[in-house]
Amino acid sequence: MPMFARLAAAAVALSLPGLALAAPAPAAPAQAPASAEPFSLAPLPYAYEALEPVIDAQTMRIHHGKHHQGYVNNLNAAVKANPALQGKSLEALLADVASLPPAIRNNGGGHYNHTLFWKLMAPAGQGGEPSPALAAQIRKDFGSLEAFKEAFQAAGAQRFGSGWAWLIWTGDRLAVTSTPNQDNPLMGDAPVKGAPVIANDVWEHAYYLKHQNNRAGYLSGWWGVLNWNEANRLFEAATRKGK
Ligand code: MN
Repeated sequence: MPMFARLAAAAVALSLPGLALAAPAPAAPAQAPASAEPFSLAPLPYAYEALEPVIDAQTMRIHHGKHHQGYVNNLNAAVKANPALQGKSLEALLADVASLPPAIRNNGGGHYNHTLFWKLMAPAGQGGEPSPALAAQIRKDFGSLEAFKEAFQAAGAQRFGSGWAWLIWTGDRLAVTSTPNQDNPLMGDAPVKGAPVIANDVWEHAYYLKHQNNRAGYLSGWWGVLNWNEANRLFEAATRKGK
């Protein structure tokens, strides 16, 4: 290569980073930066104090901003550390937890469960009522709405240690179940699998500041902030998919 061509090629190569830097900055990023985290924490759909007096503002602040943020951070770190997992959806990761590092189970479950949980609550009086379709299915599978609530509260109360209470659509019926830690009914190795319709967090961090050791009191008060509108939507989506 003649000297001139070599110099020109070197100049082009050297100038590329400079050109990129010199380009006018767009008004807003056109796309996420290359370093964007795979998963992120969405803001709460209401204010921290919106669920009082059932759940106090300080509990919500710590639960969302520290606990849930922690699951997101740890999930991102676990995915980054394992190139084979990059680009996979949260649902795909949960389906495969049995063969993945425990950090994916704990933090992927934590991220999924809490994302669901925040949307399944609403300020008192704003959560609506069970839809006719969900109410009918609850009567069919539990006898009455009250009997369902008793079964759900019992599942939460009887979960030893930390975990979750669930109402799920199994494909042909509704079922109440409970999982330990951050496990959920989407996990490939869940003993009872199904699509979540209602989920309640029974970890002490969800209620201890206000209710202390009274988990039963938290569970019975929680119906006052349940967002039936979201439960109706999840039930409709699950049954449409399953038919
Ligand atoms: Mn929690």
